[in-house]
Amino acid sequence: MKTASVFCIIACFMIGFMGSAVAQKTPSTVPGQDWRIHSWERPTPPVVDPGETTNDAPSDAIVLFDGDDLDNWVASDGSESGWIIRDGVMESVKGAGYIRTLRGFGDCQLHVEFRTPTPPEGTSQGRGNSGVFLMGRYEVQVLDSYNNRTYADGQCSAIYGQHPPQVNVSRAPGQWQTYDILFKAPRFDRDENLVSPAYITIFQNGVLVHNNVEIYGPTNWCSRSPYSWHPEKLPLALQDHGNPVRYRNIWVRELPATGNADAYRPELFWGDEVLDAMAGTYKRGNHEIKITKKGGVLETNYPGSAPHRLYSESKSRWYSKFVNAEYEFVMDGDEVSAVKISVTNGGWGEYEKVD
Ligand code: MG
Repeated sequence: MKTASVFCIIACFMIGFMGSAVAQKTPSTVPGQDWRIHSWERPTPPVVDPGETTNDAPSDAIVLFDGDDLDNWVASDGSESGWIIRDGVMESVKGAGYIRTLRGFGDCQLHVEFRTPTPPEGTSQGRGNSGVFLMGRYEVQVLDSYNNRTYADGQCSAIYGQHPPQVNVSRAPGQWQTYDILFKAPRFDRDENLVSPAYITIFQNGVLVHNNVEIYGPTNWCSRSPYSWHPEKLPLALQDHGNPVRYRNIWVRELPATGNADAYRPELFWGDEVLDAMAGTYKRGNHEIKITKKGGVLETNYPGSAPHRLYSESKSRWYSKFVNAEYEFVMDGDEVSAVKISVTNGGWGEYEKVD
């Protein structure tokens, strides 16, 4: 009996050991995900054509400038930009002010090619100065930093006034250079408090110059500014600093923070002329809607809800993320006579503009 008991204990132990060995071979789920390891049911990533070189716009990129026109660009106030196209490249014009995209971007991968003037003129910050402003606020410095001493946090590819680049990989003036930028926008909560700062990674001419560094707030000359609330997406801007810096081949890939349906939908930022044309009172029978201009965007007071922002997909086509409503402005030239509103769960109709 004693021998049998010992045999039984050993057998049970071995079965248990083998069982656990079998369990270890069972595919486990990936931490934080629903998929078992090596699952063939797991959807594969979308196919993207990368183009022939790493400077080419991949097939899923938004091409912002390819040498043909400035259709995607406006002056800071939304009017026509004074920058020029010369020999298929975009050139900063002294006194024309910043040029910005019509469309807003948040998290993104950005490719920019630039060329500082030759022969070089001026010294320090006065030589080939421009800048790439993510969200119009966070500057990646553009400067002729080839044999041109200036303060470290203001040289080419510096996060202006905050982070010098790890190395100086600037090419000589007159040569084309590249920025490949990975930008994570800051996050704000519903009370407009900062939840997470912006982070940025930059390759200049293919060489890493910033590795996921924190941006401390909007970049300024000689001063530090704290973060202040802004929308999830804002236009990208290029700086006019008085030097004829040239740009070409600018493209961006949106990397939205959320997977919701509107994440990739365009958000255009118009100037006052367009916003003023849309703003007003609209009526349909006893129903009245007011569309107002607030802080560079439009707000609507859809009946029964709090005032909320309208987003622009094109000049006439706007939408709400708050109530799943589509707004189609009826336009004759730049004049607005009515707005057709449709809601996902039931159409509404056309509202006449009464003032
Ligand atoms: Mg600059």
